[in-house]
Amino acid sequence: MTGPLQRYRFVPATLAACFVACLGHPADVSESGPKLNHAAPFQWPDGKQAVLSLSFDDARLTQTEAGIPLFRRYGVKATFYVSLDQVRKNLSTWREVVRAGHEIGNHSLRHAGSGNFKWSRDNPIENYTLERMQDELRQANREIRELLGVTSTTFAYPCGHKFVGRGLATRSTVPLVAAMFAAGRGYMDETFNVPGYCDPAQLFGIPSDGRSFKETRQLLQEELDAGGCIVFAGHEIGAEPGMTQVAFLEELLTWAQDPAHPIWVNTVANVATYLRQPPDQK
Ligand SMILES: [Zn+2]
Repeated sequence: MTGPLQRYRFVPATLAACFVACLGHPADVSESGPKLNHAAPFQWPDGKQAVLSLSFDDARLTQTEAGIPLFRRYGVKATFYVSLDQVRKNLSTWREVVRAGHEIGNHSLRHAGSGNFKWSRDNPIENYTLERMQDELRQANREIRELLGVTSTTFAYPCGHKFVGRGLATRSTVPLVAAMFAAGRGYMDETFNVPGYCDPAQLFGIPSDGRSFKETRQLLQEELDAGGCIVFAGHEIGAEPGMTQVAFLEELLTWAQDPAHPIWVNTVANVATYLRQPPDQK
């Protein structure tokens, strides 16, 4: 007899192994996730004390208009979790983004989210199965490759939602993302990621929209003291209310590039790859 708890078992071992084998995932991934060593002291590269990743979702126009020139000025690379219809509308611009070395991540085929959002009501994840989600994530990867010539190795859960189905039939999409990608970024999370404890398949993502540097300063100091990895997640970039403020990004990157604060600013993919390396290979 299958009890309720057994039904919560998300992906059979054989299916998880198939994901790993079929998709060529890094060898350190198992059904229980990457091997993270809680005891060994963690060291970021080049003597850096902490990590900052900037990520932006949905391929909004302001990301290329206001964000890309700003990131070029500071010499940093960001991660863009793209909506494919928006990429198609500005294909040559997004190809330039790729050429500039920024990361293009998977954000699902149809921005699959809960039907609690009106825009998702015709296609809610409450009606999805894991198999359908897997098919759509693979299709999104194929389309990103066809449009932009790159393979996405990280994923951002649309709206931070990490499930399909409802009630007792709910399944987590985290094991699926763990099998397909080096990292999965959440949204609306409250704090930074701590090496040795954080799960790359569900990295916390802190909203950057509408945030000021002043209100973020204390969190950044706590992250610095903890040797953590902070991942911001934004949408529009500009000066209007609700956007990730240009002033915030400028102050944040100026702070991160101050020699007094040795911060490694890099893409989610590069940070996840480093997090997954065994301590003796760092
Ligand atoms: Zn989104």
